[in-house]
Amino acid sequence: MNWLTNFVLPKIRAVVGKKDVRDNLWKKCPGCEEMLYYRELEANLHVCRNCGHHLRIGALERVKMLFDEGLFERLPLPKVVQDPLRFRDKKRYLDRLKDAQGIFGAESEALLVASGHIGAARAVVAAFEFGFMGGSMGLAVGDAMLAAADLAVRQKAALILVPASGGARMQEGVLSLMQMPRTIIAADRVKEAGLPYIVILTDPTTGGVSASLGMVGDVTLAEPGAVVGFAGARVIEETIREKLPEGFQRAEYLYAHGMVDLVVRRPELAQTLALLLGHLMGERPGREPALRAAQAS
Ligand SMILES: [Zn+2]
Repeated sequence: MNWLTNFVLPKIRAVVGKKDVRDNLWKKCPGCEEMLYYRELEANLHVCRNCGHHLRIGALERVKMLFDEGLFERLPLPKVVQDPLRFRDKKRYLDRLKDAQGIFGAESEALLVASGHIGAARAVVAAFEFGFMGGSMGLAVGDAMLAAADLAVRQKAALILVPASGGARMQEGVLSLMQMPRTIIAADRVKEAGLPYIVILTDPTTGGVSASLGMVGDVTLAEPGAVVGFAGARVIEETIREKLPEGFQRAEYLYAHGMVDLVVRRPELAQTLALLLGHLMGERPGREPALRAAQAS
């Protein structure tokens, strides 16, 4: 039987595929544990019809959802030095990068930059891809954010940031921490040009990303239930030896405490953005941006 179990069976499994078909058709809601039909979930922008839980989505789905008619142009990312520290833990950093690029495309990184229109306004969207090494921010993300800001200034467009990130990329050590001031500079370039910088906080926005580019928006929106914070709740509880209040580090809690301007359901995000950009930039193309006055007040 050895020959059958060791040789034939793996071959059959390789052909048929180990994955249960239902895995692709149905998805369990992390909020209420109900099984959701994938196509229906997709049509509902990955919001649970039962409990309203906002499931995590990829960067590409995110930009498609935000731009008018889902039309956009993707910006090629600047080339950076890969693996500057020659880092290795259980696996080589270069191999981790290759694995992620195998899934998201050879030229991809944890930030996707695209330009198009939202409502009548020109906009550049920089969206984090959480699936790419936890959306971690290293040199490539810093450079991509600077490129996004430069594009926004050149096109007289608003810059919209959508974080979904665990924070700095540990494989790049101190170089990843340096991306915090660099991305703030990027946001400042947009603001200095009199253009809006809007942040949509999504689940999760933590660590160095929440402590830099994620928290300096002219307007800060958040998706319902999104975890937004610097250190994890458990670490804080253990440090201060106190029980944290209910809903701590959730979008609604941050809204109640003035850190977030508006919590917006995903199906209403594009419309809300269009409305905001209309107010801030003027609805007619070519009209002088009204933002300076808004920033001054
Ligand atoms: Zn649910």
